[in-house]
Amino acid sequence: MHVVKAEAIPVELQLNEPFVITNQTIEVADNILIRLETDSGVVGWGCSTPDIVTSETKETVLANFKVAKRLVLGCDPTRINLVNFILDTEFRGNPSLKAGINIALYDILGKISEMPLYRFLGGYRQKILTSVTIGLNLTDLMVKKAREIVSKGFKSIKIKCGLNVNEDIENIIAIREAVGIEIKLRLDANEGYSVEDALRLVHNLEENNIPIEILEQPTKAAHLYSLKDIANQCSVPIMADETALTLRDNVKLVKLEIADMINIKLMKIGGITNAIKANTLAELADVPTMVGCMNESIVAMSGGVHFACAFRNVQYADLDSILDFRNDIAKGGARYEEGYVIPSDKPGLGVEIQL
Ligand SMILES: [Mg+2]
Repeated sequence: MHVVKAEAIPVELQLNEPFVITNQTIEVADNILIRLETDSGVVGWGCSTPDIVTSETKETVLANFKVAKRLVLGCDPTRINLVNFILDTEFRGNPSLKAGINIALYDILGKISEMPLYRFLGGYRQKILTSVTIGLNLTDLMVKKAREIVSKGFKSIKIKCGLNVNEDIENIIAIREAVGIEIKLRLDANEGYSVEDALRLVHNLEENNIPIEILEQPTKAAHLYSLKDIANQCSVPIMADETALTLRDNVKLVKLEIADMINIKLMKIGGITNAIKANTLAELADVPTMVGCMNESIVAMSGGVHFACAFRNVQYADLDSILDFRNDIAKGGARYEEGYVIPSDKPGLGVEIQL
């Protein structure tokens, strides 16, 4: 079996409202669909979602896809480890481009095997609880969003913070009062704090009896040891996100015992093959992982859902990007029920493209 056709199709997904975090505001999400076709007519879909975090744009993905295409055409799509090695060797960086291709190869593999991808990968669980994220905004609007999320049955909220500790504390207390004790709260500062800021936030919330499930990337990615500093001085588990881009980063985090948890995103690590390696590495070091997402279409996010459900050590999910789009380009892949995200039971990713 060979790949005979490879296409990259850019799509712009409009967000319902601008999404604000510490370092950027997003109104339109660029996604690049990857379509691979085999000589036997099987079509695999993947998707690249470039982001400032991985130093990629729509333009870099499309330009580098032309080179990647030459490497992928003629390959046996079932030899994913070989294709992954070739792409990782030929391209420095470009993780979302590689992720798009890698997800499409796994879609083909699932379709040929007539198995949903999460089961093909080992099928540890059939669904996973997910948080839904609230971007930075005025307190009232963040509370309104929190109520909406809970009214839709979600049981976990991820609150963006990191611009101003006092305002963040105010937002978190107001959201806790609005949603009640049953709802889990996670925080993500996107590198916005100093060690002192982060500790002040955590200790203040402790005094207010507000349990926090996870504090994600409080400090700058480049300040590797600051995560460990915070983790050593507080009881809230500290999760690495921007610090954990490449496989090499993950090795470093685990070896130096920098963080309590790691956020694996397919777009950062370069696809499912590398995500499996990163998660195994973390599991052997007793570091639980979360699968998160960028502003990903259902095609990309479904890859994350299938991956998250396949492995025991993926204990958390933050797979909510599709809730924010006015116009997605596919159906299926994954659905939400009572706070859980559930992968499709159709072969492969189970997505149906509607361009
Ligand atoms: Mg994050």
